[in-house]
Amino acid sequence: MRFHPRRLPLALAALLTLPLSLSVSTPAAAAPDPARSCQVSPGGFLSEGPTDWRNFPRPAGKVKMAMLFVDFANAPADTSVESELNLFSPVSENWYAASSYGKFDLDILPYKRWLRLPATLNDQALQHPLMRGEDHRPDVVTDDPALASIFRNAVALADPHFDFAETDALLLVPSRRSGYTRGYATFERIQADGNTILAETNLATSRYRDGHILLNHEGGHLLSLPDTYGGPGGFGWTGGWDVMGHMWGPAPDHFAWHKWKLGWLADTQIACLATRGGAIEQTVTPVETEPGTKAVVVRYGASTAYIAEVRQRIGLDTRACDTGVLIYRIDSRTPSGSGPVRVMDAQPNTSCGGLGLNNAPFDLGPGEVATFTDAANRVRIQVVAKSGADYTVRASLG
Ligand SMILES: [Zn+2]
Repeated sequence: MRFHPRRLPLALAALLTLPLSLSVSTPAAAAPDPARSCQVSPGGFLSEGPTDWRNFPRPAGKVKMAMLFVDFANAPADTSVESELNLFSPVSENWYAASSYGKFDLDILPYKRWLRLPATLNDQALQHPLMRGEDHRPDVVTDDPALASIFRNAVALADPHFDFAETDALLLVPSRRSGYTRGYATFERIQADGNTILAETNLATSRYRDGHILLNHEGGHLLSLPDTYGGPGGFGWTGGWDVMGHMWGPAPDHFAWHKWKLGWLADTQIACLATRGGAIEQTVTPVETEPGTKAVVVRYGASTAYIAEVRQRIGLDTRACDTGVLIYRIDSRTPSGSGPVRVMDAQPNTSCGGLGLNNAPFDLGPGEVATFTDAANRVRIQVVAKSGADYTVRASLG
């Protein structure tokens, strides 16, 4: 703050009343509520609510996903399966090892030959609105038998030569000249070798532009995460944070909320406030590294919560436009692709790297904003101290 002599009387008056107003508006910080108190109600199939793991491969320990390469009579392969495999392995596997702190060990099992599928399956893709760029729905297709049948046909072709007994999910790589231009996920229960494959993704030809991050976005769907992109300008809800939003964004590591939902964060790493009239204060460490408390969660409704986490330019976020305390709201009632996560913008009139939310974090220091308030829901989250990469965050729920 600059020194303004003419404002001194006002400043003095403010100082004199400060202790009184503080004691009225913010209760003393107490011990956090149990983390379970900050769980929200279940939502739809892909939501920010708790995951029903009967429907998704659980990303704990080694998880095997089969990778099948398919071409078509009218779009024969003109690349090698090795070159296609190298787009994703081991980079996508390493990405998950980093984001999960080593808890999720994705093991891609490739069947290294092109499987020839009928031209009709390619023609259906060419006609599909998702592939024609006319459809901006989320890239999860659960209501289209024509697109779904490609997975069943590929498994049937590979089955005599490939063991699906321990395969939890299927990664499909269509030929470069196929009509599958946009990646998507689906959830066909495909029986093979006495096993049920729960989730599948088509790593479409957009992979030549997107690279490994396409698998890490579609893989998020396979693990139950919803799409968080959309909103004003296409990325107006979450900017470049979390791969489920802008997959090419500068800070693609998953939100702490997503890591907790996936089981990569223990309950002991969540500082929860779910009691009206309460306040907590907690030191939070960067989400990109494993130790310490990863988030302050304020659950203010049955389906809604605010989360405050720390982002630094480390790990998967080395390209982050800005650092500090990222605050966002989740609502488990909001469907995938309709904005289930909304990042709160500390700097609403500025942008970074072309997106308004890329410098959304709250912080201490010149030009920074330290306090977020949702008056209607009586939630206040405040950055109170900073030490190295860690921040102390105070939250109150009135
Ligand atoms: Zn998606």
